[in-house]
Amino acid sequence: MKDQNQNILIIGAGLCGSLLALRLAQRGYNITLVEKRPDLRKTEQDAGRSINLALSDRGLRGLRLAGVEKDALELCIPMRGRMIHDASGNTFLSPYSGRENEYINSISRPGLNMLLLDAAEAMDNVKLVFGHGCKKVDLENAAAIFKDYESGNEVQYKGDIILGTDGAGSSVRRSMYEHRKFLFSFSQQWLTHGYKEISIPPAEGGGYRTYKEALHIWPRGEDMLIALPNLDGSFTVTLFLPYANSEYCFDTLTTPEMVHEYFNKEFPDAVALMPNLAEEFFGNPTGPLGTIKCSPWSSYGKTLILGDAAHAIVPFYGQGMNASFEDVVVFDEVLDRFEGDWEKVFQEYEKVRKKDTDAIADLAVDNFHEMKEHTASALFQQKRKLEIAFESEFPQHYHSKYSLVTFNEDISYFQAMKQGRAQDKAILNLLDDGTLTEQMTLDEKLKLVKQTTEAILHDD
Ligand code: FAD
Repeated sequence: MKDQNQNILIIGAGLCGSLLALRLAQRGYNITLVEKRPDLRKTEQDAGRSINLALSDRGLRGLRLAGVEKDALELCIPMRGRMIHDASGNTFLSPYSGRENEYINSISRPGLNMLLLDAAEAMDNVKLVFGHGCKKVDLENAAAIFKDYESGNEVQYKGDIILGTDGAGSSVRRSMYEHRKFLFSFSQQWLTHGYKEISIPPAEGGGYRTYKEALHIWPRGEDMLIALPNLDGSFTVTLFLPYANSEYCFDTLTTPEMVHEYFNKEFPDAVALMPNLAEEFFGNPTGPLGTIKCSPWSSYGKTLILGDAAHAIVPFYGQGMNASFEDVVVFDEVLDRFEGDWEKVFQEYEKVRKKDTDAIADLAVDNFHEMKEHTASALFQQKRKLEIAFESEFPQHYHSKYSLVTFNEDISYFQAMKQGRAQDKAILNLLDDGTLTEQMTLDEKLKLVKQTTEAILHDD
C-alpha cells in the first residue's frame, strides 16, 4: 500500500521533470524538484537552444493526464504538413496525414516548461529549488549532493526515492554508471552532423514571412534546414550540417562570407527571410546530436531515471519530448498496478518501456535520412501521395508509419516501428517494380499493399 507521506526527490526541472512532479503531486506524494539552472520564469533565455518543439499526440496525452493539455494547446501553432522547399525555391506542402484532425503542433520550449512549473508550484506538496546542480547521487540511500551556485556551498537533499530527469547529460545516470561500472550498460552514438539555430523574424508590421501552419524543410541530401513557427510571427530555423569532411561544414563556415556563400547556394529563398544570418550563425552555439541507450534504469529500488536521462534521441521524429511525456503516462499506469513497492514499480516500468524507447531512438535516426535525402526524391513523394490518398479515402484502414508513430498513442513505438517499416518496404517495392498500376482502383492498391505488408511481417 502507498504511504501518503513519502517524499520524492526529482532532479531536473525540464519538460519531463516538471510534468512528473505535477503528476506525482496530484497522486499525493511530497515532491522536491531541484533544478541546476535559475528559474526560467525569472531569467533571460539562452539564445539558440531549441526554442520551439513539435508537440504531438503522445505528448498531449501526458499533458492531459496532468490536466494541463488545454492550457498547452493555447501556446500551439498547428503544423499540418511539411512545406518542402526545393533547390530552385519552389515549394509544395506534403500533409502529415490524409485525416484532417492529424497534425503536429509547434510550441515554445520555455513557454511549455513555465506552464508546467506554474502548475507544479500551485500544488501545496511541491517544493521547487533552482540554481542547484546535482553532483553525485548516493543510490542506496536516495540522497544527492548539489552545488548551490549562489553560495558555492554543497547541500544534500534526500527522499524516499530519487527520480532523475536531468536530461541527456544526466548526473544521476553518471552516478549509476560509476557505481555499477560492470553491470550498467551504456551506449552513446553521435551523428556526424551538429545543429545550429537561426531565426526568421516576424514580417514588418507583424505577421509571418512565410506560410505559418507547416514545418518548413529545405532538404539537400547531406544538409538540411528546417523552420517551425512561433506565436510572435517569427520562425526558429535549425540548420543540420556535418561538422567536418565536406566542402561546407561547421569546420569550413568560419567567416560571414562563407556562411552567405553557402546559404545563397543551398537555401536562397530562406536567406531572403533571415536578415541576421551571419550574426546569429556566429552568435549561437553549435549543438551535437546523439542517441543514448542504457540499462538498467534503476538501482536498489531507490533511484530511477526517466526522459532524456534514460533515452536521449536525435530530434528528427520530433518525439524526444513526446516520449518523455509518454514516460510519465506509462510510469503512472505502472504505479496504478504496483504502488507501494518501488522496486517492483521501477522494474516493471523499464520492462514495459525500454523496447519502445529503443524503437523511437532507431526510428529517429531513420527519419534523419528520410528528411534530408528522401523527402526530395520522386519515389518518396509518390509513396507519400499514395499514403495520403489511402488515409483520406479509407481513414479507418490505413495509417502510415509517420501516423502510427505520431498520432496513434494507443499503439506502442515498438509496434509502430514494426508495422510502419513493413508498410514502407511494401509500398516502395510495389512502386519501384511497377506492380501498382494506374489501372488499379485505390481500393485494389490498398488491398495489395496490405497483403504485401502482412507477408513481410510474417517473414520477419
Ligand atoms: P531536458 O528538457 O533536457 O531537461 C533536463 C533538465 O535537467 C534541464 O532543465 C537541466 O537544466 C536540468 N539538469 C541538467 N543537469 C542537472 C543537474 N546536474 N542537476 C539538476 N538539474 C539538472 N522533442 C520533441 O518531442 N519534439 C521536437 O520537435 C524536438 N525537437 C528538438 C530539437 C533539438 C535541436 C533537440 C536537441 C531536441 C529536440 N527534442 C524534441 C527533444 C527534447 O528536447 C527532449 O527530448 C526533451 O527536452 C527531454 O526532456 P527532459 O526533461 O528529459 O530533458
